Amino acid sequence: MDDRLRHLFDLAEDARGFMPPDEGRALHHHALDVAVDGPFLEVGSYCGKSAVYLGAAAESRGRLLFALDHHRGSEENQPGWEWHEPDLVDPTTGNIDTLPHFRRTIGEAGLEETVVALVGDSPRVAEAWSTPLSLLFIDGGHGAEPAHRDYEGWVPRLAVGGTLLIHDVFPDPVDGGRPPYEIWCRAVGSGAFDEVDAVGSLRVLRRTAEGT
Ligand code: SAH
Ligand code: MG
Repeated sequence: MDDRLRHLFDLAEDARGFMPPDEGRALHHHALDVAVDGPFLEVGSYCGKSAVYLGAAAESRGRLLFALDHHRGSEENQPGWEWHEPDLVDPTTGNIDTLPHFRRTIGEAGLEETVVALVGDSPRVAEAWSTPLSLLFIDGGHGAEPAHRDYEGWVPRLAVGGTLLIHDVFPDPVDGGRPPYEIWCRAVGSGAFDEVDAVGSLRVLRRTAEGT
């Protein structure tokens, strides 16, 4: 491993967010391995942790990583919910704002030319998107509606031969919520994907045909 990559892995591990080191390194590994042309896109960037792992690979492969998030937090990040972090609330508006943290992380990583922030609502951006993606990482809202909307909005944008990664897939309901697992089942059940890898709650699939 070269010094730059070691530096980026250290930085990603220190960044706040929801991505264990082994899963982050698997993200990086599979992103380095992309088999087709086109940019990468992640849904759900939060403070930039996964974007550093994916961005490191995008830089090596000469791709852009579009990092999509409205930066207002998911339902599960709001006050009173399990994954709320009070210091992410902007005191002037009372809303969560993770964009300054995201920008700081990507700036510190020296990835500003590779990682392009898309600040907006995922289904609205998906509707306007037409560039075929070589890699799609889904880690946005984990409620039933947001997860299925991300699947329906973004999976059709993934090129044949492209890599689909889904985070927080828990086959056993004791371990976590259902929607990411449900969309993984949709992908596998579509017949358009091969299973490539599983690390923790990260699932890696390869598109073999059109379809969702
Ligand atoms: N990948 C991140 C964690 C993402 S948490 C990491 O490595 O730490 C989920 C993110 O999805 C939150 O930041 C939330 O703001 C975003 N999100 C939820 N629903 C969204 C929507 N409809 N459009 C855009 N972003 C959304
Ligand atoms: Mg996640």
